[in-house]
Amino acid sequence: MSGRFEGKTCIVTGGARGIGAAIAHRLASEGCKTAILDVDEEAGRIREKQLTSMGLSVKFFKADVSVEEEVSKAIDKVYETFGSIDVLVNNAGIGYEKPLELQTLDEWRRVIDVNLTGPYLCAKHAVRYMKERGGVIINIASTRALQSEPNTEPYSASKGGLLALTHALAMSLAPYRIRVLAVSPGWIDTSEWQIPPRRPELSPLDHGQHPAGRVGRPEDVAALVAFLASDEAGWMTGVNVVIDGGMTKKMIYID
Ligand code: NAD
Repeated sequence: MSGRFEGKTCIVTGGARGIGAAIAHRLASEGCKTAILDVDEEAGRIREKQLTSMGLSVKFFKADVSVEEEVSKAIDKVYETFGSIDVLVNNAGIGYEKPLELQTLDEWRRVIDVNLTGPYLCAKHAVRYMKERGGVIINIASTRALQSEPNTEPYSASKGGLLALTHALAMSLAPYRIRVLAVSPGWIDTSEWQIPPRRPELSPLDHGQHPAGRVGRPEDVAALVAFLASDEAGWMTGVNVVIDGGMTKKMIYID
């Protein structure tokens, strides 16, 4: 694996599991000093141990991305530990699915707090250090920001807001050589998709729904994030990149 990120530091929120863990693994494998920032201390420590045992430079920092004081302190600690902050991947997020009339205001607020306010707070505090030498912020949104299923209002709204936050930040931060991008995955096989009533195991039907012939893997998203975070994507900012096996381009027709 090439060392595209030698001498750089990244923060991956929600890096203890799922897509975030794959992103942390990928960036660390390419030479990045990698900070996993996650609310789940046990899972975060296990991931840190797993990746450091592979010879990678990875450290876990505990924070809830929706709590400004925790975010601010954790980001200060990352800077003190690694000496720079070059890449921020706002990946931490929570899924949600419930009929509209059963949704509560507290649940709406929690989804918005984690999925939208979290990336805002992490960007606000990481930028304090990124402004020194430029950087990249990548927000993990969702195809649910672009098209919807029933019963996902808080989730879809949080991810739609994240796309708008992406281009707003891109405009504010371009003068500091900070690029800001969104990635919108379709169906990726992680624990988020095991919330009821979804089945815990994927079937050939699930894979077959995708024009590309299979459901996505966390590593698919990690490879895209690594490209976008690298200098090879140096002229990209303010845009959303969809990665979904062709699902959002699929026309439904009846014979
Ligand atoms: P996951 O549930 O497997 O992992 C999420 C991680 O985020 C966990 O480690 C969790 O502890 C952490 N986290 C949750 N709340 C947090 C908080 N308040 N502060 C810090 N960390 C927190 O989820 P995943 O499937 O890997 O999803 C990752 C991201 O990708 C999410 O933003 C999700 O919305 C998005 N996404 C997922 C899919 C999919 O199909 N899995 C599709 C589109 C978008």
